Amino acid sequence: MTTAIPTPPAPEPGCIFCKIVAGEIPAYKLYEDEHALAFLDVGPLSRGHSLVIPKAHYTTLDQMPDGLVGACASLLPRLGKAVVAATGAPGWNVLQNNGPIAGQVVMHMHFHIIPRNEGDSLGYRWSAGKLDSQDAQTLLNDITSRLN
Ligand SMILES: [Zn+2]
Repeated sequence: MTTAIPTPPAPEPGCIFCKIVAGEIPAYKLYEDEHALAFLDVGPLSRGHSLVIPKAHYTTLDQMPDGLVGACASLLPRLGKAVVAATGAPGWNVLQNNGPIAGQVVMHMHFHIIPRNEGDSLGYRWSAGKLDSQDAQTLLNDITSRLN
């Protein structure tokens, strides 16, 4: 089943990714179709670091129509496979940041594909806590009641 993708919003003035989509700024394009574009990150965290974006301007993932998320996310396995095959990286991360507090710098939704290698300097803090069972029930109620 294909989910229809509503009419996209207009390009956002000043958005570097909208300018790449429009061809106003060059990019090393890896893949392009009607809805999505993939290209090399010009500030790579590792060799082969790539981005997948919707051609239409949406700031964060939660603003996007489901069908467009699918059009972009469905590229991740194929592109990731090609990137690791081309770079020889034994592993890779998919990273997607929503909002400046989460590390988003370009305010046009994008997925990062980041090849990882033994001993690379990339990292992230993962200070795991412990889920409180009472709070878990509160969260369960508060989140599930908001799923449409
Ligand atoms: Zn944009």
